[in-house]
Amino acid sequence: MATAFRTCPFCEATCGLAVEVEGDRVLSVRGDHDDVFSKGFLCPKGVGLQALHEDPDRLRTPMVRGADGVLRPASWDEAFGVIAERLPPLLAEHGRNAVAAYIGNPAAHNIASLIYGRVLLKALGTRNICSASTVDQYPKQMASAYMFGGGGVVPVPDIDRTDYLLMLGANPLASNGSLMTAPDVRGRLKAIQARGGRIVVVDPRRSRTAQVADEHVWIRPGTDALALMSLVHVVFASGLADAHPLADGVEVVERLAQDFAPEAVSGVTGIPAETLWRIGRELAEAPTAAVYGRIGTTTQRFGTSASWLVDVLNCVTGNLDRPGGAMFPLPAHAKRGEGRGRGARFGRWTSRVRGAAEIFGEIPVACLAEEIETPGDDQVRALITIAGNPLVSTPNSERLARAVASLEFMVSLDIYVNETTRHADVILPAPSPLEKSHYDAALYGFAVRNVANYSAPVFAATMPQEWETLLRLTGIVAGAGPDADVAGIDAMVAADVAGREGVEPDPERVGPERILDMMLRGGAYGLSLADLEAAPHGIDLGPLEPRLPETLKTPVGRVELAPEPLVADVERMHAALGEHVNGQMVLIGRRDLRSNNSWMHNLPKLVSGPLRCTAHVHPDDAARLGVTDGALVRVTSRVGEIALPAEVTDDVMPGVVSIPHGWGHDVDGVELRVAREHAGSNSNVLADEDLVEPLSGTAVLNGIPVSLSPA
Ligand code: SF4
Repeated sequence: MATAFRTCPFCEATCGLAVEVEGDRVLSVRGDHDDVFSKGFLCPKGVGLQALHEDPDRLRTPMVRGADGVLRPASWDEAFGVIAERLPPLLAEHGRNAVAAYIGNPAAHNIASLIYGRVLLKALGTRNICSASTVDQYPKQMASAYMFGGGGVVPVPDIDRTDYLLMLGANPLASNGSLMTAPDVRGRLKAIQARGGRIVVVDPRRSRTAQVADEHVWIRPGTDALALMSLVHVVFASGLADAHPLADGVEVVERLAQDFAPEAVSGVTGIPAETLWRIGRELAEAPTAAVYGRIGTTTQRFGTSASWLVDVLNCVTGNLDRPGGAMFPLPAHAKRGEGRGRGARFGRWTSRVRGAAEIFGEIPVACLAEEIETPGDDQVRALITIAGNPLVSTPNSERLARAVASLEFMVSLDIYVNETTRHADVILPAPSPLEKSHYDAALYGFAVRNVANYSAPVFAATMPQEWETLLRLTGIVAGAGPDADVAGIDAMVAADVAGREGVEPDPERVGPERILDMMLRGGAYGLSLADLEAAPHGIDLGPLEPRLPETLKTPVGRVELAPEPLVADVERMHAALGEHVNGQMVLIGRRDLRSNNSWMHNLPKLVSGPLRCTAHVHPDDAARLGVTDGALVRVTSRVGEIALPAEVTDDVMPGVVSIPHGWGHDVDGVELRVAREHAGSNSNVLADEDLVEPLSGTAVLNGIPVSLSPA
């Protein structure tokens, strides 16, 4: 028996796992008590690593659609042969934009996808790239780009040192933290309280996090930006403003906030004015404080403005870039900055049909169905998905399913035949997480402590590594055919990185290891991959350090507190001040500790017990609408309708119905035996592809108008 130490690849928390193995079998998965960051913590999903490795439904060979229309197992050469036969002619006849790509959330947890996915997309050369980010965090990254110059320059709450943590639309006890990499959030929150600090949660739901907070404040969905602007007003009106000296536009923000006194926003937000006055002053007067907003603040009608105002508040309370406030991580693979850069650039192109602006090289996924359906030049005729399930995870799933079914060709890199990949002509699987290496290149950029941890594969892979698959696909779209020189393309990628990092490639390494090693050696701490390999429990690089102005990428090298597009968006917030609560029910999402978007419902222990895909309805609404606890309720939006069991609970505020996303597995062709037995309903059938936040194009998933009736 041997013990392998791994970083859990499933969520943003990056917990260390101790995996006991014997031969090619997994005996157990436990938390690694010596992990420098997680110190033994793990959640039920982490234990699921064994079940995922053993899952009989996980694909072991490529799947190719036969002449009879049925997907059947195929060899790798046969699969690439089909792609090489069908994809290049489409590109040649209709142009690069005729092929769209969709990148799912698991790709962000995968160093091979992060590095070589970009290589593939560059070779593909399409403007029709979409990802889970436009149903998730791009509003936050867009606001950060406007304020600090880069979408990756995102301050995170220094929760291990703060005295006051204000969280809006965030439930890290269920999500385990997001855009805030922090294993054992519960322990870290308890530590705030143990040192005399205070935690306030603002949310339309009494979430698990709200239950452990010192205070839970109810708020109407989609009004966080108004509440945040009101807190900015309180800070200035109370004479407590203490903005960071590098911030420009402080007086503009003060002026903008003048019309948003607590009394002005109380009606629309549902938060008593005196509560806003008190919280604003508590924030400004706390020795240190951090404001943190997550999915409820980003996937809503004011997503970018709410994200902006989170950091405006951090800044004007004197908490930006100081210990205990909101700070900028410095991962081991990243360099220190130069203090200025090109700044935010969006809208370099627009989507063909509705003219949605490009964001971080993508078009919003809410546009994907219309780009497939609408005839004309650049119509999308083929799709490549990488670790994504957009037919469950993105708006108006039923329309997108019809559109995807009409494609001329589709390739999916995925481990399952799921709701999306069942439409693919070719599915290329990936090794089990235990058969590949791991380093959280994306997530260490949001970590509340600077750490680095590399995991080598535990078992030899029984199929090509993802980076090899991605490069073979790259060869095809680049016109080199199905047997392109993968090693040669990899060497070119490595040479490019070597030039950027100013180090020589290690001749003994290939693939992501060679790239990662160069990034580490060129990085801020001068580490190497060998250093990480010698430290199976990770390397602790210490608490976050102040990084202003070095981390800034704005052209002037200062913090832009009042970027013009966000200042202009305040007009919409003004209009919202006059809204009246009209009895319209609105839909919001819900996270569950044992669920991870759509893709872990085939692991028995994670779906056992009572069905968790239910509609939470307040008792007053239930009585008014004739909905009874446990009975089916029909939920209808402009674009769709689902029926699911109701849970009548005062954990949700009146006027709000809460349904988790990622469910709805009982559709034809899905080969997920366990998930089908716990199918649930797909909440994204209700999400409206026309309801997007105007700045980022991100889908509004929190605050969708719906009606309820007994089913
Ligand atoms: S919290 Fe996240 S990283 Fe930690 S064990 Fe659970 S799924 Fe894995």
